Amino acid sequence: MKILPKINYLFSMIPLKPPKQWFQRLDSTTTKFYTRNKKPKISLSTLQKNKDEGGLEAPNFMHYYLANQILYLTEWLNPKEYYNTWLEIEQLDCKHIKLSDLPFITATLKHHNCFKNPLIASTLTAWWKALGITNGQLKTSILSPIWHNPDFKNKKTPLYLKTWEESGITHLQDLFENDKIRSYNNLTQAFDINKSNFLQYLQVTETIKKTTPLDLTTLQPPELAIYMKKISTKSKKLSKIYRALSNTNCNYLPIAKWEAELSITPSTDFWAEICCNTFKMTKNTNLQLIQYKVLHRSHITQQKMHKMGFSATDICSQCTQNTADSYLHALWLCSPVQHFWILITEKLSSILDYRIPLSPNLCLIGDLTMLQPPANQSQSILAALAIAKKAILLNWKDKKSLNINQWQNLLTEFISMEKMSALRKQKKITCFEERWTPFLIALNLNF
Ligand SMILES: [Zn+2]
Repeated sequence: MKILPKINYLFSMIPLKPPKQWFQRLDSTTTKFYTRNKKPKISLSTLQKNKDEGGLEAPNFMHYYLANQILYLTEWLNPKEYYNTWLEIEQLDCKHIKLSDLPFITATLKHHNCFKNPLIASTLTAWWKALGITNGQLKTSILSPIWHNPDFKNKKTPLYLKTWEESGITHLQDLFENDKIRSYNNLTQAFDINKSNFLQYLQVTETIKKTTPLDLTTLQPPELAIYMKKISTKSKKLSKIYRALSNTNCNYLPIAKWEAELSITPSTDFWAEICCNTFKMTKNTNLQLIQYKVLHRSHITQQKMHKMGFSATDICSQCTQNTADSYLHALWLCSPVQHFWILITEKLSSILDYRIPLSPNLCLIGDLTMLQPPANQSQSILAALAIAKKAILLNWKDKKSLNINQWQNLLTEFISMEKMSALRKQKKITCFEERWTPFLIALNLNF
């Protein structure tokens, strides 16, 4: 990952948007690197999702570009006391509109003088795009300014009442009290305005109503805007903004297929948990990737080969069941595989002195809800089951050769690697012993 800081540096220094084709070329090169020039089985856009959403958190360069651009917006939102030349120049281009108000004005800003400044234009364009990505909407909200706002024009002139501004009425939120729009009397009392301003009150409210209803539910600011205001004084802003852009609150695993085959109807949290288990069970990326690919059902079965036109039949050739070689069949139901799983669960039950059920929910997707494993044993159970899947994949084309000795050898090799990586810290050694002691005893391992 030496490339990412270099690209991020460019994004932060050059305020202009690279062409769309540049991002496409970068994505295509990255995909080729990930798949070693083979056809990808899991799309790059899925790999770029968060880990609890079924992704691998591969860098999304477009999101990094946007995050770098709107990082600058936090400077607008949180003006500092000290003099800042760039902000001063940008403020001059905005004339009467404050820089901190720009993110809350709609695309009418494109016709304003400030948009001729390429720095302001690129930051605002990135902001609007970021709003779209996070399902936010570029619209008038209670944080929008009332004065000089090109959205609120009366006879082609933006609203402006100097005395009202000086009294403290600046944003739409000032027109509300207790979730309701202030009456004329309330407003004059609250802001100490001369009582002869009723016509101005009507002019202001009617002009705003032409653009948006004065109703608090429609005037809520986008969540990303609230988040940006919140983080504008904090550290690690770039990664916080990047994470906010990448968070989609969806799951990108083939959930429907798993749920149909396993006859389960769990909540959405269940799948986030399954995804997280993949990365919690071990730091060994090879094993994580095996489990990740199983969850994505990315291995090629006879049925898939048939669908792609590479095989005349979709019937499994490795057992006598005369049935289609679906993903569940290949990894669970096929006779030699089923026999293998029986041996594995029996062996694991005897090692742990605790019953490990013969269930595809546990063995394939790593659903631990049916288990109440002894303390600290969840990760070792998941890792041992992932190693069983590794053994099946190693014998993918000749499942009759599957045998428990191979699993035991792979497990021994894995435990020795875990021990080596744990040796670096005393705390990790304790954790290793808690997880693996029953295995060390049962398999008579001593390293
Ligand atoms: Zn079969």
